[in-house]
Amino acid sequence: MIGTEFIAQSPETKPFWEAAGAGRFVLPRCRQCNRTHWYPRGICPHCLSTTIDWQDSPGEGEIYSFAINRMGKEPYVVAYVALTEGPIMLTNVIDADPGALSIGTSVKVTFKPAVTQAPVPLFVVR
Ligand SMILES: [Zn+2]
Repeated sequence: MIGTEFIAQSPETKPFWEAAGAGRFVLPRCRQCNRTHWYPRGICPHCLSTTIDWQDSPGEGEIYSFAINRMGKEPYVVAYVALTEGPIMLTNVIDADPGALSIGTSVKVTFKPAVTQAPVPLFVVR
């Protein structure tokens, strides 16, 4: 699978992974222009401010685009999810019939336990 687990642990992403460890989904929000963005980074991609806060998010959105990978034992879905707050994130949609998904399908974040790091946020159909 590819997706959120490839957001490396770094000082800039530490608050994201700490929140994930507590079961919370948070997004970086710029204090200067008040917009959220994805992926986590130390500089706002909209206005270049370095004053970034973390905002709790319900983790809801819809599939913006997706692909079904059928090369492994089980097919899996790699998707861009457009979050309600605006950012689009690369992730996986799990526990779904890949054939039943379409662009615009409503999805919600869920957390998948990970062995070597905080639980990974993925998405399920809602
Ligand atoms: Zn900004």
